[in-house]
Amino acid sequence: MIVVLRIGHRLGRDARISTHCGLVSRTFGAEKIIYTGDHDSQLLQSVNKMSAQWGGSFEALYEKNWTNTVQYYKRNRFLIVHLTMYGEPIQRKMRYVRKSKNILVIVGGEKVPGEVYQMADYNISVTQQPHSEIAALSIFLHEYLSGKELNKKFSKAKIKVVPQKAGKRVVRNE
Ligand code: SAM
Repeated sequence: MIVVLRIGHRLGRDARISTHCGLVSRTFGAEKIIYTGDHDSQLLQSVNKMSAQWGGSFEALYEKNWTNTVQYYKRNRFLIVHLTMYGEPIQRKMRYVRKSKNILVIVGGEKVPGEVYQMADYNISVTQQPHSEIAALSIFLHEYLSGKELNKKFSKAKIKVVPQKAGKRVVRNE
């Protein structure tokens, strides 16, 4: 099971980027995203609404205290992986991370508390360049699942895209 923890969400400023963290998590194989930072009911609503429409069993929820969340998953034997440009290169560490079937993947925001680095089993970088939580999460999940997430099926979808060489085709099942 893959759970994503997005820490430090800020109302207003991070609405779009945090929503995209949720969409990327869902699409690329995670079962759940937990947001900490500011409580944002609109954010939760929009990710959960997309999920209900596009299928699968993904859920977005809020926890006030990120430390409790990390401790909870540690107690439940999840491997704790923190994505940061300062960590060890993904290409060197992925084979160790893949040994765990249950992982909590932490992505930060503008400021990441120092304790996150200590609590993580692995601090993993996707290059040593600054980019974004969305990009880091996408590449991490793609590598972790070895591309299998590209064929993921979403049960009970109310809306589905039918791939086309040109144009758009959508099937609705409401
Ligand atoms: N100084 C931050 C850091 O530690 O990576 C960059 C902050 S960035 C705006 C927000 C988040 O994007 C980070 O907390 C991290 O999760 C992710 N991120 C950005 N660049 C990354 C990289 N090269 N490798 C892994 N994660 C990255």
